[in-house]
Amino acid sequence: MLLGCIADDFTGATDLANMLVRGGMRTVQAIGVPDRAPRDVDAVVVALKSRTIAPADAVAQSLAALRWLKDSGARQIYFKYCSTFDSTPRGNIGPVTEALMQALATGFTIACPAFPENGRTLFRGYLYVGDVLLSESGMKDHPLTPMTDANLVRVLQAQTRRKVGLVRFDAVARGAAAIRERFAELQRRGETIAIVDAVSDADLAAIGEACEDLPLVTAGSGVGLGLALCARAKGRLGHAASAAALPRVEGLAAIISGSCSAATNGQVESWRAGRPAFRVDPLALAAGEPVVAEALAWSRARVANEPVLLYATSQPDEVRAVQAKLGAQVAGELIESALAGIAKGLVGAGVRKLVVAGGETSGAVVQALGVRLLRIGPQIDPGVPWTLAEGEPPIALALKSGNFGSVDFFAKALEQIG
Ligand code: ADP
Repeated sequence: MLLGCIADDFTGATDLANMLVRGGMRTVQAIGVPDRAPRDVDAVVVALKSRTIAPADAVAQSLAALRWLKDSGARQIYFKYCSTFDSTPRGNIGPVTEALMQALATGFTIACPAFPENGRTLFRGYLYVGDVLLSESGMKDHPLTPMTDANLVRVLQAQTRRKVGLVRFDAVARGAAAIRERFAELQRRGETIAIVDAVSDADLAAIGEACEDLPLVTAGSGVGLGLALCARAKGRLGHAASAAALPRVEGLAAIISGSCSAATNGQVESWRAGRPAFRVDPLALAAGEPVVAEALAWSRARVANEPVLLYATSQPDEVRAVQAKLGAQVAGELIESALAGIAKGLVGAGVRKLVVAGGETSGAVVQALGVRLLRIGPQIDPGVPWTLAEGEPPIALALKSGNFGSVDFFAKALEQIG
């Protein structure tokens, strides 16, 4: 295992795994710390849910993941967080980075959330989201991790006792050797975590090369691509050409959608124009009606002939009406658990290709199916790959978070898997 990764949330883990596969690394995503080591991999991404929990808990979970990755032979460790550096003033990026550095006995690392392809660029330490500073973007109003300062040196310094420095764009633009010189200069000044500027994929490649020997890298998913490209250029990825290949899966196909984002609403609309779809009614669920059994009976009559969609997806005003009646938390959990029950029933009925829309919904489905390891396959749309849950039976899963995917995503995904 060349790279052992610790991700602070589930869809972020998939995002990184997808990038590593694109760079030529055979990659498995583990949901929590796994109980066995996957075979034939270049990278393992352990998905935690540690972004907004108490710093001490985030540190403990990250150290447990680190121990497992080191015991499984990981040569380098990667701590993955969001490309908008989502964190609270208490952490958890700073405390986890500090703890990992100490456990690895390393005196220097970087911090770089840049993901230029998605509009996240870093210049002179300031993070941009598209054309605006992070602090002017929608992230300033995030319910859990509002980001009100775009200067990441300052943001990270507030979360750590270590001194935070900056590798400016002028060094990055000159390539890996110049970046490494700057690393050395910062260390002489006692600055042991370096925010690194990056505005293009070429910058990510240079950063990847400059970091190839660091025991610990902390970043968004972008630097992962740089590291993979560097390993590939140096001939360390013998299977790069087939890194995204998945074994063929035989069986029926279905889609489950619990996301209410604008993109998902469009995707459900597009599918419903001409294809079979069943609406899961939250109020019927709350009234104790046997919605799951009805959904499964409806599916069984159709799914042998063609793929079916089961959805709770609704427009914002309908969601608000349901939340006003049931409470947002209760409604969410009720629907997630119903959709997870439907997923389990579908697999019992022979479904082996399953598309799931919604981050939380995906979490609930994966848990209900008892999935612990996902081998990452080819990309369907940016950030969303097909994956294979390698259990018995093997199931192909496409887990799509909220706003990802084109309007014909469901049909496109099923066509791609064949
Ligand atoms: P996304 O990735 O778009 O955020 P999630 O699955 O993470 O999607 O979150 C969507 C949440 O909304 C889930 O908790 C889901 O159960 C809930 N939900 C789905 N449909 C409805 C609905 N019609 N009314 C209220 N809540 C809903």
